[in-house]
Amino acid sequence: MKVAVFSAKRYDRELLAAANAEAGHDLVFFDDLLDTSTVALTAGSGAVCVFVNDRVDARVLSALASGGTGLVALRCTGFNNVDLKAAAAQGIKVVRVTEYSPYSVAEHAVALILALSRKIHRAYNRTRDGNFELDGLLGADLRGRTVGVIGTGKIGRVFARIMTGFGCQLIGYDKIPNSDFEGMGGRYVQLPELAACSDIVSLHCPLTPETHYLVDASALALAKPGAMLINTSRGGLVDTEAVIAALKSGQLGALGIDVYEQETNLFFQDLSSTIIPDDLIQRLVSFPNVIVTGHQAFFTREAIGTICATTISSISAYAEGRPLEHEVHAVV
Ligand code: NAD
Repeated sequence: MKVAVFSAKRYDRELLAAANAEAGHDLVFFDDLLDTSTVALTAGSGAVCVFVNDRVDARVLSALASGGTGLVALRCTGFNNVDLKAAAAQGIKVVRVTEYSPYSVAEHAVALILALSRKIHRAYNRTRDGNFELDGLLGADLRGRTVGVIGTGKIGRVFARIMTGFGCQLIGYDKIPNSDFEGMGGRYVQLPELAACSDIVSLHCPLTPETHYLVDASALALAKPGAMLINTSRGGLVDTEAVIAALKSGQLGALGIDVYEQETNLFFQDLSSTIIPDDLIQRLVSFPNVIVTGHQAFFTREAIGTICATTISSISAYAEGRPLEHEVHAVV
């Protein structure tokens, strides 16, 4: 089957091609994002393969259906960038990668916590400049800290388990509580209590209309003064302007983000020789107590290998008319 692969970086091309060696689909790679301006490139493709920032909205889906494309294969877990109702209306199936190394994202969240807590990013820059001064690098032990986990699914639970190894206390919030989380000593609480009691809050729930701006000015006002916020989930969970105000006032003590609401126009590109017009990201990276990574939490050898293998296997199942194990359905 011909498959138009969008947002294809060098590593996508290499690893998807390797995973496809046996299946033999005709993979056609494009650097561009899939959106209304690029959808014409899908002509003759039975499937499209997209990533987190491709814009698979109703107009794109309508154009895909008109061109005979019947499958959108997301090579990620999140599917907030696909209009599922419009896909169902057009008879287009949507698959995602339901499971790949949850350790990749959980460990990245921990990496952000350790770096922020022990000011590794600042020490790295200082020592390269011959500055071995300690002033400004005072850290804090993680042992005994209370960590609030919002979303105790696959990634949230791996993250929680790692944090118990540091001797942290766990509290959690999830729509569907999980006994594994409680089994590792976690206690479920409501969001206001989680905000008020946590030294560190880490977000691991999906972006839905319900979770959009879960962390806004009112949630930040409830937080423990000087708390740390980690977001490796989706940018839209956090109101960036409110977070900047909280960082300026000191209410928020540190911020580690791997995702950003307006990341579509920034991430996965080298913009180092350009003037970046996004004032919010520029303000964020100017804080000494903020670390921004560009949606790299999933980016481990183990995770990418599984992502590519699952994506090709879903495309093969679709091409052969077999049931789609990883299909995403619209909630009606
Ligand atoms: P999962 O489905 O296993 O867990 C999500 C959890 O969130 C579930 O327990 C669910 O009940 C809970 N949840 C849903 N709605 C909620 C709400 N309104 N309030 C509180 N909890 C709610 O998913 P996962 O594999 O653990 O992934 C979590 C998120 O991580 C994904 O949705 C995705 O956005 C993000 N992610 C980021 C990267 C990255 O590279 N940065 C990679 C993979 C996944």
